[in-house]
Amino acid sequence: MLRVMKLTFWGAAQTVTGSMHEVQAGGESYLLDCGTYQGRRREARERNANLPFPARSVRAVVLSHAHIDHSGNLPVLVKNGFGGPIWTSAATAALCEPMLLDSAHIQEKDAEFVNKRAWRKKALLGTDEEGAVEPVYTTSNVEATLPLFRPVGMHTPTGIGPGLTYESYEAGHMLGSTSVVLEHTDGSRKVRLAFSGDVGRPNLPIIPDPEGCPQADYLIMESTYGDRLHKDQGSVADRLADTINRTAARGGKIIVPSFAVGRTQQLIYVLNELFESNRIPNIPVFVDSPLAVKTTRVFREHQEAYDGETTGLIRGGDDPFTFGRLKYVQDVQESKALNDLRGPFVVISASGMCEAGRILHHLKNGVEDSRNTVLITGFQAENTLGRKIVDGHREIAIFGAPYQLRAEVVKLTELSGHADQHELLVWLKPAIKGLKRIFLVHGEPRQQAALKLAIEQLYEVPVTIPARGESFEL
Ligand SMILES: [Zn+2]
Repeated sequence: MLRVMKLTFWGAAQTVTGSMHEVQAGGESYLLDCGTYQGRRREARERNANLPFPARSVRAVVLSHAHIDHSGNLPVLVKNGFGGPIWTSAATAALCEPMLLDSAHIQEKDAEFVNKRAWRKKALLGTDEEGAVEPVYTTSNVEATLPLFRPVGMHTPTGIGPGLTYESYEAGHMLGSTSVVLEHTDGSRKVRLAFSGDVGRPNLPIIPDPEGCPQADYLIMESTYGDRLHKDQGSVADRLADTINRTAARGGKIIVPSFAVGRTQQLIYVLNELFESNRIPNIPVFVDSPLAVKTTRVFREHQEAYDGETTGLIRGGDDPFTFGRLKYVQDVQESKALNDLRGPFVVISASGMCEAGRILHHLKNGVEDSRNTVLITGFQAENTLGRKIVDGHREIAIFGAPYQLRAEVVKLTELSGHADQHELLVWLKPAIKGLKRIFLVHGEPRQQAALKLAIEQLYEVPVTIPARGESFEL
């Protein structure tokens, strides 16, 4: 039988970062996501800088959402000759501008750091282990990428190539996040391939609940929390209030590594509620991230992507992104001044997995003081500093120097943007009858094995866990 689609997994295969899947149909090649791979520095640089296919061969990109592990390598694609459209939601396109510019800035700084270190080593020891490295991409690569975005509303089938249409659905994971379906028609044969993107959870602040899985023949599905059931530890508001009250009582700082986009706005939204109902003391809250300032502006501009509750709040005249002692810190000097400020206060800063950014300074200054709390609000990938903190390592390395981890560590999993195993199975249910095969991506091996087992037992649909570089004909 004539096969009409070929699928190759280039990223987020048996890992959670670097989402990138290639779809070949009708003689053309398309990418689902083009994300940054995060992990050990050298390996990550290598992986991100070198695409496993010619960029010019890609006709179009379909982007599920703005998180950097899904969008962050688009500028590398453009740097290598891609000039086609990037199909996505309006909010995602708007968020990508500040996010990709920020990412370019981090890459530029990172290259500078690596070069300086190599230089110093050379001067001290006469070694020459690393030549000068270039940033994986720069601001100008991002500027060439931004005009390629083509925003499309949800539930609006759009032709993106010969015989191929794209349609998006609410994924409930972050502002503007989508699940997508690519439908390819070749004569009488039609194949529908769904891609979950990252599946969110019901009742998250600001954004709508995820829609169920769209009808399709094949599904590429995330599995981040495939082996886990989120513990029902009470509401986010209750646990956040407890943590802040407990830490404030001992005069400590609450240090919150957070994705500047999405998680930070959700935290602000809940903190706004807590302040307005006097459930936490009137202590300062700093959002120490220039990126968060810019993306909060995008949140204000894209109310079409809100849930009913947030829309109602805005109509009622409340601004959930502003309250009493909340301060957005842009300036580096102001950020550094926080190092000398005594607690209690809350500081929310990026990056969410503690890999880069201003959060490293706050951790460096705060982790050795047992009065402080490090509040982890999101998933922490293997080999990241955030993961070491969550796993309770006594000693952690920050900027290459060892620090004793004495601060309290609290995991606030309720704000997780990812569905747990049960929620994934519920999400999958509406499409299950039509599915011929499910490919699991965006998960570590243990999560994937558990979810595969659960799906096969419950629904009797075959599940494949593809390796990086593996191809399948549909
Ligand atoms: Zn995501």
